Amino acid sequence: MSAKTRLSVPAAKKIPTNLFRWRRVGSRNVATTDHGTYAFLDDAQLEQLVEGRLEAGTPLFEELHQKGFLVADADIERLSQDYDRKVSFVYRGPVLHILVVTLRCNEVCTYCHASRSNMSDTETDMSVTTAEKCVDMALRSPSDTITIEFQGGEPLANYEVVQHIVHYGSERAKSLGKRVMFSLVSNLALLDEAKLAWLVEHRIQISTSLDGPKDLHDKNRNLAGSSAYDRTVFWMKRINQAYVDAGLDPQLYHVEALATITRDHLSRARDLVDEYVRNGCRAVFLRPLNPFGFAKKTGAKVGYSAQDFLVFYNEALDYILELNLKGVEILERLGAIFMTKIMTPDDPNYLDIRSPCGAGIGQIAYNYDGSIFTCDEGRMVHQMGDDVFLIGSVDSMTLKDVVTSETVKSLAMASCLDSIPGCATCAYKPFCGTCPVFNYTEQGHIFPQNTTNPRCAIYMGVQDRIFKELMAEDDSTRNVINRWLVVKDRPEYMHDGRRLRTSV
Ligand code: SF4
Ligand code: SF4
Repeated sequence: MSAKTRLSVPAAKKIPTNLFRWRRVGSRNVATTDHGTYAFLDDAQLEQLVEGRLEAGTPLFEELHQKGFLVADADIERLSQDYDRKVSFVYRGPVLHILVVTLRCNEVCTYCHASRSNMSDTETDMSVTTAEKCVDMALRSPSDTITIEFQGGEPLANYEVVQHIVHYGSERAKSLGKRVMFSLVSNLALLDEAKLAWLVEHRIQISTSLDGPKDLHDKNRNLAGSSAYDRTVFWMKRINQAYVDAGLDPQLYHVEALATITRDHLSRARDLVDEYVRNGCRAVFLRPLNPFGFAKKTGAKVGYSAQDFLVFYNEALDYILELNLKGVEILERLGAIFMTKIMTPDDPNYLDIRSPCGAGIGQIAYNYDGSIFTCDEGRMVHQMGDDVFLIGSVDSMTLKDVVTSETVKSLAMASCLDSIPGCATCAYKPFCGTCPVFNYTEQGHIFPQNTTNPRCAIYMGVQDRIFKELMAEDDSTRNVINRWLVVKDRPEYMHDGRRLRTSV
């Protein structure tokens, strides 16, 4: 049955629409629905839609009907299922559990978000007892698969506890019928061959920071008596080779790297991308600076405006697309997150860009002393002397206490875009997110003031860029983008107990 024959309102009547929002991008308008569909409309078409004057049976009517813009005889069941699928992350509970196993770090970074401590400060190491309590709480999550991420400081500075958590967590997951993935975020400088062999044998996912060519990386990240860049790049290559030697597909199993963009990067977009390509990286995450930790103090030296970031970002993206068109496969992670939200029926559940955000309901951060925070960024604010995002302690709370705490509820409300002035009427609301910790640190309140919020400006600019690419309808670029949407499973990283090894 065609939409025309199904239309149940007389032609003369206005055609009612679902809630939709629009935004001018280039010469056209991007209109979006809550369930995540979009359409490109010129001014006359937008006017027809707003005024309910669409003519049934026309291609535009069919398109907008199929995408759920129109209420008349809409398949409400399908639309509600689409919406449900888009926000399915809210049913999963906390999937990411960040364990800060130490604050000690062997490097000093100009923008250190974690507020590191010196290598001699062993009192900032997590104990085995606290570690087990954190793992027990993490495994109480309703999700049957969780990720335990080792953060610091430099987590390899408390390597024995990392090993213990992997063994204990694997055993506990097995007994509970759950799956757990372990992820190590490290500067790699404390790695050695024995540790590498253990990490690969135990299928620990490894991520690092690569801030660009040697001069930029070493300017940002100071390693006493040595070059931080040389160490990082050496170990990235060694790890990738070790995965290959272990028979793992290098397309799936390799070191993930991200770049924290400082002012020095702004004129070096191509150099940064080239560095990633040179080191065999398949992705680069162009992450804007956060106003936490040392970055809050050094912001005047290393910071920049949202507009400056977007100029840099667009130049880097131009170059990345150009390289892909020449056959070099490398994706940009921030753009890929938004593209997946915009172009697929699913949400990638990136915890900082969703509504509500992941604070306490999608992720939990556990400090070295067992104190619990909404997220690692909330913990960073604590390291700066402000406990506003502190929830409690693993010594005295259950997971239910954490998730239902007033702090978590407040952050969920503050990051629910439907109720935020500016976001509620923004065309990008279905794909976007706001960070209450960023808003608090930058603007003094967990609710954003979007007209002056730099993160809003960056997200808006990145989404404008994506919609411009989609409007251009260039098949070659579209093919590149389509490759970025594929979510690849990495089953070898999953611990369900069967991978448990006996040696420590
Ligand atoms: S508060 Fe910010 S950093 Fe924390 S989970 Fe939400 S978006 Fe992410
Ligand atoms: S944060 Fe900014 S870009 Fe995102 S939905 Fe809100 S107003 Fe729109």
